[in-house]
Amino acid sequence: MARRKLIYEGKAKILYEGPEPGTIVQYFKDDATAGNAAKHAVVEGKGVLNNRLSEFFMAGLNGIGVPTHFIRRLNMREQLVHAVEIIPLEVVVRNVAAGSLSERLGIEEGTPLPRPIIEFYFKDDALGDPLVTEEHILAFNWASQQDLDDMVALALRVNDFLSGVMLGAGIRLIDFKIEVGRVWDGDFQRLLVADEISPDSCRLWDIETGQKLDKDVFRRDLGELADAYTEVARRLGVMPKQGRAGGGPKLVH
Ligand code: UDP
Repeated sequence: MARRKLIYEGKAKILYEGPEPGTIVQYFKDDATAGNAAKHAVVEGKGVLNNRLSEFFMAGLNGIGVPTHFIRRLNMREQLVHAVEIIPLEVVVRNVAAGSLSERLGIEEGTPLPRPIIEFYFKDDALGDPLVTEEHILAFNWASQQDLDDMVALALRVNDFLSGVMLGAGIRLIDFKIEVGRVWDGDFQRLLVADEISPDSCRLWDIETGQKLDKDVFRRDLGELADAYTEVARRLGVMPKQGRAGGGPKLVH
């Protein structure tokens, strides 16, 4: 009999049934994809780094009362999380213009925004995750008005937390994406930050030099992705100081 049951395999993670009802084991792969998987590579050590970084951010959020799905890290590539019903929206928060916002609206990358801007994208690979409005979300019943209000509140709290943590590490949080899940307590539903928070889903620029320390390094062929993520982890004190993740026994502890 298999050790555990596969629930879902995505581009960067695999979900397995957890040891207790209502739990899931989230496994971080080394695969990197961009442009809706048009570009793909295996980046040795990325899964280990993202497992650690996502643990760091989610545990930090739990610690300040922002509810997340994170329970505990199990090993180098796996973490135990609450099973949630994922709301089929990507919630993007932007502090500085970059990426698709810059392209869509013709705003130069790096232009500070007058206030954090929140956007919703419908999670559908076949459609390329299109930008949607609250009207679409409510009309098609992807989320309720209450869910939307709660998602905005969660997203802004995550933004404040992440911005502060990054600032302390000499990093500017340009934008990021979160996913939100529902859990049920009897008839009550609660929303949790789910999926992952890692340099795969954030834009992170060095405060001094503007150097990119996120997945744009891969999307735009700017260098070694694992080096950028290792630098983020090092600055946050998340990983041992020397060496790349993924290889040596020194990383096991
Ligand atoms: N993002 C993500 N997954 C996606 C799309 C975007 O994690 O499927 C993140 C991305 O890393 C960036 C932010 O959301 O931090 C905003 O991305 P944008 O809309 O600019 O799209 P992109 O330029 O990445 O296509």
